[in-house]
Parts: sequence; C-alpha cells; structure tokens
Amino acid sequence: MANMEKQVETRRVVRVQAQFLRGFCIQVFRKLGLAEEDACIAADVMVSADLRGIDSHGVARLGFYVDGFRQGVIMPEAKIQEVAESSVTAVIDAGGGLGHPAAYRSMEKAIQKAIGAGIGFVSVRNSNHYGIAGYYAMMALQYDCIGISMSNASVFVVPTHGREAVLGTNPIAVAAPAGEEKPFVLDMATSTVPFGKLELYDRMGKPIPPGWATDTSGVPESDPKRVMENLWNRVGGGLLPLGGAGEELGGHKGYGLALLVDVLSGVLSGACYADLVNPRAADGRRLPSRIGHFFGALRVDAFRPIEDFKRAMDDLQRRLKSAPRAEGQGRIYVHGEKEFEEAERRSCAGIPLNLGVLRNLERIAHEFDVEFKPQ
Ligand code: NDP
Repeated sequence: MANMEKQVETRRVVRVQAQFLRGFCIQVFRKLGLAEEDACIAADVMVSADLRGIDSHGVARLGFYVDGFRQGVIMPEAKIQEVAESSVTAVIDAGGGLGHPAAYRSMEKAIQKAIGAGIGFVSVRNSNHYGIAGYYAMMALQYDCIGISMSNASVFVVPTHGREAVLGTNPIAVAAPAGEEKPFVLDMATSTVPFGKLELYDRMGKPIPPGWATDTSGVPESDPKRVMENLWNRVGGGLLPLGGAGEELGGHKGYGLALLVDVLSGVLSGACYADLVNPRAADGRRLPSRIGHFFGALRVDAFRPIEDFKRAMDDLQRRLKSAPRAEGQGRIYVHGEKEFEEAERRSCAGIPLNLGVLRNLERIAHEFDVEFKPQ
C-alpha cells in the first residue's frame, strides 16, 4: 500500500467501547477452545492495554494469538502445573498455553505468598506471549504490595556490538502504591521500542528514528518494514537495546537489563532463553515458544507501615512533578501517570481503533462466526 494511503488509513479511527471489545475477544478465545475464565483474563489484559493507550499490545494483537493457536504454538487446553514450591517461591509450568492466564495465576500466587510471608516470587516456564507486563505488576496494588513482572520474548534485539538478534524485547514492570497520588507504574520494553512500534510506524508509512533498529550489518536502519522482514526471515539486524547502538548513550545498559530479565524469566524457571525462545522447525514452521516469566510481590507493611510508605510515595512524586521544567516543557510526569489519564479518557470516549485494526477484527469475526458490530 502506498505511504499516503497508509497514512489516511491510520488516521481514520473508530471509537469502540472497552466492554464491547472485551466481549468480542472472549467469544473468539472461547471458539479457539480456551476455558471461560482464561478467555476473560486474556481479553481483560488486552483491552486494559488499549485503555491505557498501549495500542501495540491491545486488540490489534488478537490475530497474532489466533495464528498461534492455529499453528499449534499455543495450546488451548493447557494445564498449568506447579513444579516446585517453597514458602516464598514457586515455579509454574504453563503447559504451552496462552501467556495471560498463566501469568495472572502466577502473579496471584506471588501475592498470596507476600500476604503470608512478606514476599513472594514465582517464575514460569513453557508459556507464551503474556501481553503488557504492567497488568500483572498492578495486580499487587490492591493488596498494598509492590508488584514486579518480567518476561522474555521473541528474538528481536541485537546485543551491543552485535548485528544479529539474540534477545527479546524483554519487558520489565514494577508497580508501587501511593496515597493521594496515582501508583507508580513503570512498564517498559528493555529495547528502545517494542516490536509493536515498528508495526505502528509501518502502518503510518513513517521512517523510524536512528537508535531503534539496525540493518543486517549492524548499521542504523530507518525502514520499519525492512527491519521486520529481516527479523521474520532471520537474516540479521533487529531492534536495539534501550540506549541504542554502541555504548555512547548507554546501549550496553539496556542490553544488561534485557539479559537480567532473561536470567530471571528464562534461566531461573527452566524456560527457553536468548535465541532459543520461539524456535522454528527445519521447514520454517513455528514451534511452541517456551517463553518464561518472572513475578514478584513485596508486602509493604513487612518493611514499614503502609501509611508511612504511601505518604513518602506521594512526597517523592510531588518532588519530581514540582521540579524545574526544561524550556518548552509543560509538565514532568511520573511513570504510569499518562496511562492512568488515558484510561480515564478512553473509558468514557471509547478506544480509538484505526481502520487496519478494525478490518482485521472484522476478518476474525467472520472467520469465527462471531458478531462484530461496534456502535
Ligand atoms: P513506553 O516507552 O511507552 O513507556 C515506558 C514507561 O515510561 C511507562 O511506564 C510509561 O508510563 C513511562 N513514561 C512515558 N513517558 C514518560 C515521561 N515523560 N515521564 C515519565 N514516565 C514516562 O513503553 P514501551 O514502549 O517500552 O513498552 C510498551 C508496552 O509493551 C509495555 O506495556 C510492555 O510491557 C509491553 N511489552 C511487552 C512485551 C512482551 O513480550 N510481552 C515485549 C515488550 C514490551 P506512562 O505512559 O504512564 O507515562
């Protein structure tokens, strides 16, 4: 499609209510053979991403999961099993199922352990893509716990000084409660941008800035489609770690963070790690991803009284937000703030879906004989 047409298509949006999209995703997941509760969890994680403005991980991903089920990469009737446990730790085998239900239940387990013993850590093996890391970290907030969530991911990231992808965009999320202020919610890929941003720029027909990706010889690449094609065909190049190419702007630190996530999510759980994640058969077929996750919960009052903690969290945030601003900048944000505000807006006004995403959802609706008539 020509760039101009793409831009028009991307700019035209239809607003759809979260409740409608949640119901639609549940029906599609049910048709794919997922149990009702698992379908509800997965749909809720996806629509929460859309509500928070993380469009790359919302309902736009439904087709990706449908393909995963169809290709036998995601098992619809997976049994989630505990393979090791102590008073404060557990290891879960997700049975090759969709990542969201396994992640949800593992985070619940980490929280239960934290409620009892002050801390809880759960690592998960044999799983699949789990959506936004922040959803699970935020589950801890209602229990006055700090939540941690990480996952390894498809192999898209080139290590510092390399020219081939060996790591995933391995997200990290940490959520901490506050009093009158919003909770702190850091939720980020450890690459400069997640893969979804390439798709977004490609849909918009826009070149990507330097620091996002390299070509097959390790030189900055500005065409998002070429980066994606190189990655799909596994011919080299890929996304750069947080901080970009080389060491000058700290690319080696982003690389280290991605590696840290892989140690806790992949190596510690017994899942795949590095370029072993998302293996392919000799004929190029996708094989089960065998992704790993890591979850943690810390009960705040095991460290200090929760009221004191929340008061200090409010003070911490106010100090940041009232700090002198750079020329031309109207506001200093704390992580999570923009997303809470976006969620409030989108809960009322609906979730904006561009025509490309809408058409994909219509295609899925047709394929599964599910009604798709957003207001
Ligand atoms: P962003 O770069 O959009 O945001 C990263 C963090 O910075 C967020 O907590 C965001 O919160 C915060 N932030 C943004 N702008 C500011 C600012 N000016 N001041 C302070 N904080 C700010 O996220 P990414 O693009 O890296 O990741 C997007 C999503 O993709 C995440 O939800 C992540 O979990 C998910 N992901 C999932 C993967 C998987 O395999 N499952 C892989 C990679 C990513 P806020 O916007 O509220 O300010």
